[in-house]
Amino acid sequence: MNIAIIGSGYVGLVTGVCLAHIGHRVICVDNDPEKIKKLKKGIPTIYEPGLEALMHKCMKRRQLFFTGSIKEATKKATVIFIAVGTPSKKSGEADLTYVENVARAVAINMESYKLIVEKSTVPAATGKRIEHTVQLNLPKKYQGGKGRRLEFDVASNPEFLREGAAIEDFMHPDRIVIGVESKRAENILREIYKPLKTTMIVTNINSAELIKHASNSFLATKISFINSIAQICDRVGGDVLKVAEGMGYDKRIGRSFLNAGIGFGGSCFPKDVDAFIRLSEQSGYPFNLLKEVRNVNCEQREYFLKLIEDKLWIVKDKTIGVLGLSFKPNTDDMRNAPSVDIIKALQQEGAKIQAHDPQAMGQAKKIFSGVHFCQDAYGAAKGAHCLLILTEWDDFRHLKFTKIKQLMRQPLIFDGRNLYHDSHLEQYGFEYYGIGRIKV
Ligand code: NAD
Repeated sequence: MNIAIIGSGYVGLVTGVCLAHIGHRVICVDNDPEKIKKLKKGIPTIYEPGLEALMHKCMKRRQLFFTGSIKEATKKATVIFIAVGTPSKKSGEADLTYVENVARAVAINMESYKLIVEKSTVPAATGKRIEHTVQLNLPKKYQGGKGRRLEFDVASNPEFLREGAAIEDFMHPDRIVIGVESKRAENILREIYKPLKTTMIVTNINSAELIKHASNSFLATKISFINSIAQICDRVGGDVLKVAEGMGYDKRIGRSFLNAGIGFGGSCFPKDVDAFIRLSEQSGYPFNLLKEVRNVNCEQREYFLKLIEDKLWIVKDKTIGVLGLSFKPNTDDMRNAPSVDIIKALQQEGAKIQAHDPQAMGQAKKIFSGVHFCQDAYGAAKGAHCLLILTEWDDFRHLKFTKIKQLMRQPLIFDGRNLYHDSHLEQYGFEYYGIGRIKV
């Protein structure tokens, strides 16, 4: 199949590379000329394990191309995936400006049948809007009436990959969801995904769009639920790790997304929860449950900060070491990372921050001012009054704690991701605080 991917960010680039890998001819588009320049040279613009090697392989086989031109991509491809950003407006509603821009640009350049597929996360009924936009912007000669009516289909194919495991998730998905309104669109999408052996859920466009928002909102609910349990653990003397384990063995519940900590972040959960709340409100349903999920998530950051202030006492002029900046491990993505709120709040109180992250320091430098970035975890610990764990990178699991203790001014660790066992760190002489694990 000849496929175009419009928007070559975290989702678009991985989708493009993986579709090329399974045998399609793919052209990836982006309107950021710097990105396209790098991609054409085979330099990935994001950090994602395994991406660079796979990208090189597909480029060498001449199955993967890059361009800045939607016109060129529309001409070459029959199937066009829209993978641009859908950020939040101030109201929380999804801003679909980029999606509309792409739909218009594709329509203007259409000369033959196209299947336009929403890969971006969008609210229910966006498919209809795209269809309307394309119809309105088709070249006059193809708009029907006296001219020839140019056929096209719109479909929804939401993406469920996780940054940090994106290639594995794309190649071995739990399921593929497609929302279609015609057999032709269904057949094309079935053909595209044929090499991936998994369950395919075929439904209408609105339901497919809802599946994505409902899935992310449910996962966010699980996180806020376990964070609420952690709060109770800290108050009555329970260990949230054991509670989650005990709950998770129940197949109806499952262990995943029951990790208490400083709350969810990233480019998807906060924005998708906001957008789903707005969509529900606009439809006349207030979705109070989801509003509370969002509140609990905000409170979790404040809870962590309060814990630090309680134990450290005076924050002003203290040196605070930070391990982990990205919103989760194995990515350089800093969008809505909990570390941003936490570090900025501590800086406001006068703390000096020295931080290390295995991949995200390049992105973090664009966000923070006054943070000293360190080569490794030991640099971040040197002379610190306390150490914060803000991302659960594997690199931090097996540090030399004797060395860390010697380097620090005070052996005090606040583990916002429950990465360590308290008894283990206490053996080294650390005062250790996780989330939901305080012994009363
Ligand atoms: P991103 O910001 O990394 O990538 C979007 C890209 O689109 C950017 O490179 C931008 O330059 C480009 N772009 C914007 N307008 C364009 C235009 N008119 N023409 C060409 N390129 C254009 O975003 P992302 O993280 O890849 O997310 C994209 C969508 O996928 C969002 O709706 C998101 O919610 C959804 N999604 C993201 C993830 C994830 O883990 N990041 C997972 C599933 C779904």
